[in-house]
Amino acid sequence: MEYEAVIGLEVHVQLLTESKMFCGCSTKFGAEPNTQACPVCLGFPGVLPVLNKRAVEFAIRMALAVEGEIQPFCVFARKSYFYPDLPKGYQISQYELPLCLGGYIEIETDGGKKRVGITRIHLEEDAGKLVHEEAYVEAGTSLFDGNRCGVPLLEIVSEPDIRSPKEAHDYLVRLRQLVMYLGICDGNMEEGSIRCDANVSIRPKGSKELGTKTEVKNMNSFRNVQRALEAEISRQIKILEAGGKIEQETLLWDPEREVVEPMRSKEFAHDYRYFPDPDLVPLYIEKEWIEKVRSELPELPWRRKERFVAELGLPEYDSEVLTSEREIADYFEDVVAFGVPPKAASNWVMGEVLRVLKEEHIGMEAFRERIGPDRLAGLIKLVQAGTISGSIAKKVFEEMRTDPSSPKEIVEKKGLAQISDEAELSRIVEEVLSEHPQEVERYRAGKVQLLGFFVGQVMKKTRGKANPKLVNQLIRDKLG
Ligand code: ADP
Ligand code: MG
Ligand code: ZN
Repeated sequence: MEYEAVIGLEVHVQLLTESKMFCGCSTKFGAEPNTQACPVCLGFPGVLPVLNKRAVEFAIRMALAVEGEIQPFCVFARKSYFYPDLPKGYQISQYELPLCLGGYIEIETDGGKKRVGITRIHLEEDAGKLVHEEAYVEAGTSLFDGNRCGVPLLEIVSEPDIRSPKEAHDYLVRLRQLVMYLGICDGNMEEGSIRCDANVSIRPKGSKELGTKTEVKNMNSFRNVQRALEAEISRQIKILEAGGKIEQETLLWDPEREVVEPMRSKEFAHDYRYFPDPDLVPLYIEKEWIEKVRSELPELPWRRKERFVAELGLPEYDSEVLTSEREIADYFEDVVAFGVPPKAASNWVMGEVLRVLKEEHIGMEAFRERIGPDRLAGLIKLVQAGTISGSIAKKVFEEMRTDPSSPKEIVEKKGLAQISDEAELSRIVEEVLSEHPQEVERYRAGKVQLLGFFVGQVMKKTRGKANPKLVNQLIRDKLG
């Protein structure tokens, strides 16, 4: 029998607010444990939470970007559970009345564009963190860090519209791209800024009914989500093939051993006893506010991609790469604004610039401070004017990484300007030909591939500065 996978994702996105969801504590990552925690986020008796307006604004941005319906009225609820990383004994979330219902995220599949429906988007707070250090574990205890308690999260729940682990991966990539464009999340996977629970079931291909699902919890890498789903789907198929039944359960992915394993179920079989948090008033979101946020939304990545193709004439591939991050697209457009042809700018940004970002593990902002769009544009213009060749330009670019002078100054300082003086080049070509009489003979006997060899020799003598077009021409002329 052929099976089809049905997948729905629950994604937690950590919002880029400066302070926590209901108190003034900082959300900055990496601080000393328990230095960013107060009675409110630790849930001391008698404290009163106060909602962070910026967190709501970020949620509105997301809701608008996925064309969801922002609810005029939503309520915070207490989700009760007992676990040592949650000193309050409950998490403040939204349950029956979330901030946003509906919407979609579009992904590209082999069969064309596909919309993955969004079920709901709601705000909630994060729990703290347990630290299991060896010495303490041996002594039978663990450490608690409250810095993450109360950090604002946006939970985005998808419809079970996803049909393969690859689609799940691509959906997550789109989602990350979007929240980064919107400026509501730093997208830092290592720091857990985006975490995903993956729900999956299988059914006979063509069937309309949903099978029993399992849930793989809390993964913070998209690769892991994809691989965990692949493993879980084959596990489910094996069970059904053997005539067994899928148990609804919660699983954990072990990336080292590449297997999913059941969580100890008693510990996580919750009765959350949701009820409206009596300390928080219902949230009414006014139309005017929504419209203001809408008017401030940036151009969304997929629109920008289409514009790069339609207006700048870039290939689809270039547009996709350049719009993958807002800062990259901004930088590219700034280079073009200095009068550089878009395709030339694209080649440089996709090639050299992205290579430097990768090599140095830096973001576009840091790069921009070193080589601003004006300087890169200047360099490209030198190539276009024939002052330097493409390969010399790469050398100049390397210099620019540490030398703040203009590309022109660097070319002059280092004597890198292209040699286009025919008399001079002619002399060098003669020299090369007389040094290689055997090759000249073979060339004349028909081995014309040797042209490249001669050009290479001229380049060697001129340290790459000879005008390649002219050199080619001269050699051909001289060899008849
Ligand atoms: P739960 O109450 O167990 O959290 P929900 O109905 O809230 O389940 O759905 C959680 C996620 O699981 C959603 O993303 C949803 O699309 C997905 N989902 C629901 N039913 C199935 C199913 N049968 N197979 C795969 N995914 C499913
Ligand atoms: Mg769930
Ligand atoms: Zn606090």
